[in-house]
Amino acid sequence: LDYYFKQIEIHEHLNAFNEVFFYSATRQAKLVQEKIENGTAGKLAGMVIGIKDNICYKDHVVTASSKMLEGFVSPYSATVVERLISEDAVIIGRLNCDEFAMGGSNETSYFGPVKNAADSLKVAGGSSGGSAVAVQADMCLSALGTDTGGSVRQPAAFCGCIGLKPTYGRISRYGVIAYASSFDQVGPITSSVSDAAVLLEVLAGADEHDSTVSKHAVPDYSAGLKNHSPKKIAVLKETLESQALDADIKEAMLAAISAFKAQGHTVEYVSFDLLDYLVPAYYVLTTAEASSNLSRYDGVHYGHRNLEAVSLNDLYKQSRAEGFGEEVKRRILLGTFVLSAGYYDAYYQKAQQVRRLIREKMEEMLSSFDVVISPVTPTPAFNIGENIDDPLVMYMADIFTVLANLTGIPAIALPLGNNAQGLPLSIQLMARHFGEQELLSLSDAFL
Ligand code: GLN
Repeated sequence: LDYYFKQIEIHEHLNAFNEVFFYSATRQAKLVQEKIENGTAGKLAGMVIGIKDNICYKDHVVTASSKMLEGFVSPYSATVVERLISEDAVIIGRLNCDEFAMGGSNETSYFGPVKNAADSLKVAGGSSGGSAVAVQADMCLSALGTDTGGSVRQPAAFCGCIGLKPTYGRISRYGVIAYASSFDQVGPITSSVSDAAVLLEVLAGADEHDSTVSKHAVPDYSAGLKNHSPKKIAVLKETLESQALDADIKEAMLAAISAFKAQGHTVEYVSFDLLDYLVPAYYVLTTAEASSNLSRYDGVHYGHRNLEAVSLNDLYKQSRAEGFGEEVKRRILLGTFVLSAGYYDAYYQKAQQVRRLIREKMEEMLSSFDVVISPVTPTPAFNIGENIDDPLVMYMADIFTVLANLTGIPAIALPLGNNAQGLPLSIQLMARHFGEQELLSLSDAFL
């Protein structure tokens, strides 16, 4: 723990932590130390972990990197936090992220952008940018993020880490600040596949507080890691042929595909003709859900309150106008618009139909393949400030990650070394619902 505290101090300029839990982490570490000495320590004893600042931890501040929740102290812990602690992990702090997890560069945070440790002029990725950089710069061993449209995988990819988005419903979201509830999942960011496996094992499984969690049995992912049976792999043809794809990422992916073949897996290129519909469907549906989820921040129940308001309506308006940042407001407006009478059928309902088509297409593909491959991101990490003023450019960069969230399937981002400028490159593997074991064992054999 002392080592990580020092690392955090050395890397303070990267802005990865919103708060370091010096007191509670030290106390927890002492308890774990005693348990190790008398042989009663849990599976995660010795793991120092950071949590994204949209995950509630009893008696600790949680802000979702928003002015709206500045100083808000959580009265209870998320199920994922309870599970980490019950297996003796030490929670070292809360990590910077895009405001309410809305963004892909960690530039929408009220507390400023997180900088990439490979090059501090580059973005960390988002929305779990702090989580990725904390692992990248060894400020903690692993971190939790949340992934609604790529927020675990994309920052992991930009920072050379492993990022796992589990199947929708695999992990409880109780105590996780909601963005788009039919998409949100918690996922680990780690530097080894075995850490991802042990974390998933601890975090997954039914929870009486969250009815969306599956009762599907939780496998012993760690024990299954060494099951390296040959797999049938599909490469999404259009994603590799995409004009938007960076040449270095493409080259690294082609080398990875050759390596999969050399390991005895069969690889086929398969056409996926719905690529153009992914980003539009994702942004119609998630903004609709966000506009509903964020209506609770009214200046009365939580966080920021305008004190000059003279009427109730005024209180709502002023508190929300002051508390939310620009990107969050844009999404609330867009989401309210697509849900409004007269537009509902044309946008929201249409997007639901598109989502079903995409899901059916992927289910069909995954009935004949074990694993599907695509890039994680079109480019390596870009410059801070480069894209943030153009929301459409930002949204289009999510093209390869939102597929797994629209369909609910599990997906993992794996590092593929660096380009000539030292920026990490990556590849994405996806599998059937509840096929995390396949993703993890294939990743283990590959890395
Ligand atoms: N970049 C995507 C978005 O802005 C993903 C965010 C997320 O997964 N939380 O919505």
